[in-house]
Amino acid sequence: MEYRDDIEKSAEYLRLALAHMGRHKAGMHPVSYAIWYEYVAGINPALRERIDALLEDGKELDDSAVHRLFRDHVAEIDAHTAQRVSESFGKVMDKVSVSTSQVAAEASQFGRVLERWSEDVAAGRHVTTPTHNAAELLSYSHAMRQTVRALHTRLEESHREVETLRKEVERAREEAMIDGLTGLTNRRGFDRALADHLNGNDGLTQGPSLLLADIDRFKRINDDYGHLCGDKVIRAVAKILRDNVKGKDIAARYGGEEFVVVLPETPVEGALHLAEKIRRTIEASRIKRVGSNEVVASVTISLGVASWRPGESQSELIARADRALYQSKQLGRNRVTPAAGA
Ligand code: GH3
Ligand code: MG
Ligand code: MG
Repeated sequence: MEYRDDIEKSAEYLRLALAHMGRHKAGMHPVSYAIWYEYVAGINPALRERIDALLEDGKELDDSAVHRLFRDHVAEIDAHTAQRVSESFGKVMDKVSVSTSQVAAEASQFGRVLERWSEDVAAGRHVTTPTHNAAELLSYSHAMRQTVRALHTRLEESHREVETLRKEVERAREEAMIDGLTGLTNRRGFDRALADHLNGNDGLTQGPSLLLADIDRFKRINDDYGHLCGDKVIRAVAKILRDNVKGKDIAARYGGEEFVVVLPETPVEGALHLAEKIRRTIEASRIKRVGSNEVVASVTISLGVASWRPGESQSELIARADRALYQSKQLGRNRVTPAAGA
């Protein structure tokens, strides 16, 4: 995000942000400041929506919540910028390379003309400027071609360097879409992948279907076994999800202890079947406590399953899966619920 507010405006935002920061548990560090600055400045609608939802639930934001918000909604913009920059950089270099190739072609053609002309002079044909020395002309022409050739080589080298740079940025961008704890695609990657599937969807094939999953009573796991063990449980659930998807399917970490699976071209029956299989596998898993043989008691997940309906927006589809997940929780957890209209 590029901040363009002048000193007066940003001072006002600083005051407003500080007021918010004072009301929450997270430390008053730059990560906290960044999210509250963007919140009060109204320049990041997705972030604002998510914070408002948390505030509505009466949540106090702690350090991990603030870091998650930063990672999902502030760092995201940097990745976009990186992509834009790398693409335009590449385009500029492509143009430079094309134009130097043209210059080189023209110059060598010119060189050939000069050469021919000097041959004519040497052979005594069309001698119109006898003061010119043919050998001298020839050496000029050689020198010029060599210079152009050197220029061309140098530009080709820098083109290769830019290509390497572009690949590095591309890799960094991909890494920005991976969740650090689990290695799954993160929320940003999921949003993009689903958007791609919906954009290219002609409604002829069934799907995509979504499984939205949330670990049951996870707060209790953190409280009983510690945060580190909580993280281990998140990783174990992530691994089960990864092991159960294949091909074009994408398993992603949607948020803290929430996951989402995108199943392109899968009708709802197949999605429900997979959801049930994953639920049972997690229920049967025996996740050990960090550094001990003690098994973490009752790790289960609840799921909501929805299949895209033509005309439905991305957020409507997610909201339907979310309502189904909520129903699974209401009905007692550790279960799969199909969304209304699946
Ligand atoms: P429910 O069955 O209704 O889902 O209960 P819950 O306790 O799982 O629900 P809630 O969403 O209230 O709690 C989720 C908790 O997950 C709160 C948060 O501190 C914790 N959490 C979120 N992200 C992480 C993480 O990365 N690691 C750990 N250890 N805990 C996390
Ligand atoms: Mg949750
Ligand atoms: Mg939960």
